[in-house]
Amino acid sequence: MAPKYKAPRGTQDVLPQDSWRWQRLEAAFREVCRRYAYREIRTPVFEETELFARGVGEGTELVHKQMYTFQDRGGRSLTLRAEGTAPVVRAFLEHNLGATGGTQKLYYICPIFRYERPQAGRYRQHHQLGVEAIGSPGPEIDAEVIALYHDFLAEVGLEGAVTHLSSIGCPKCRPALSQALRDFFAPHVSEMCEFCRARYETNPLRILDCKVPHDVELRKGAPSALDHLCDECREHFDGVRAALDALDVEYEVDPTIVRGLDYYTRTAFEVIHPGLGAKDVIMGGGRYDGLAEMLGGKPTPGIGFGSGIERLLLVVESSAVGRTFPCPPALDVYVAAASPEARVPAAALAAELRRAGLSADLDHTGRSLKAQMREAARMEARFAALLGEDELRGDVVTLRDMDSGEQEKVARAELAARLRTETA
Ligand SMILES: [Zn+2]
Ligand SMILES: [Zn+2]
Repeated sequence: MAPKYKAPRGTQDVLPQDSWRWQRLEAAFREVCRRYAYREIRTPVFEETELFARGVGEGTELVHKQMYTFQDRGGRSLTLRAEGTAPVVRAFLEHNLGATGGTQKLYYICPIFRYERPQAGRYRQHHQLGVEAIGSPGPEIDAEVIALYHDFLAEVGLEGAVTHLSSIGCPKCRPALSQALRDFFAPHVSEMCEFCRARYETNPLRILDCKVPHDVELRKGAPSALDHLCDECREHFDGVRAALDALDVEYEVDPTIVRGLDYYTRTAFEVIHPGLGAKDVIMGGGRYDGLAEMLGGKPTPGIGFGSGIERLLLVVESSAVGRTFPCPPALDVYVAAASPEARVPAAALAAELRRAGLSADLDHTGRSLKAQMREAARMEARFAALLGEDELRGDVVTLRDMDSGEQEKVARAELAARLRTETA
């Protein structure tokens, strides 16, 4: 009979045979964040809709078409976390985390919800790991954030990623850039999508963010922010580059990176991995010095990145590291009961071994000894510990090495220590 319920379209279950890969990736990220002194922040899975409308940007495709917005029973408009940064900056402001001065260095691992067309590596609930460093205008912190991600990829063992770096300038550089973009696009306004026609008037930078294929084509050769940086932005960009060199982080300057919203400033970067083909961005980030103010706080500089876990896993699986990604340790010992009378003693033995730090399992459905041994093999147990009448009488167990098939009697009192040595 076909199951009545399925996971909603665009979502997936992470099953036990796959979840260990997630754990490896998340553990590597937590470890590198620990080294860089970034601390975890966990924000609610939903926020006031207004936060994302402001923190992502009114007029963006994400806000208009992709948010999971609903009204709760109290009539409030709420939205499932649509991106990682706005909630963290909201929490930073709400709890006055900037009161201590210096830089607040935060990281998160969380689900993100977007109503998108499901495709490979894209889900309506996907998961992101990211950091936000709030309080420093850079440029050293910009380099640190990028270096952290490099070290994370190294910790995972993933090679071949390329960091693309640019500066998108500041409100001071924008008027000249906007004018240059208007001049460039002027002959093509009538061909653009309706959003871009409006953007042409209000904020031509956003044309560079449009996903409509014809508009993507139109912007080839368009002027870039890098050509219009003010002196301060130029100096900042040079500072980021010098700091990256000092930290031994490789990158390529790529003026095509854009962030079309006013509160994004200066440093912008993406990490590309060829393992994903055309849609190969595994991480995106940048500076958002105007965001805190946009959300009602006092002006506070910030920079961060987000990286999709599903996409990272696709890359890991498609590359050499996928074959060497360390497998989770198999079960240390399967405790098998040769007779019904041995079942309670078997449970007691398993509990004793677990308390000694070993992973142990046993049958809970009254199966035959033969079926139990099949189960032990299926679970890839390193050892099986057999308990029957003889063993119970002699206070011993029969220990079977599941690889070699060799068996021997071991005194029960010595079993835990023996197994700990063998499985260390
Ligand atoms: Zn500037
Ligand atoms: Zn467009």
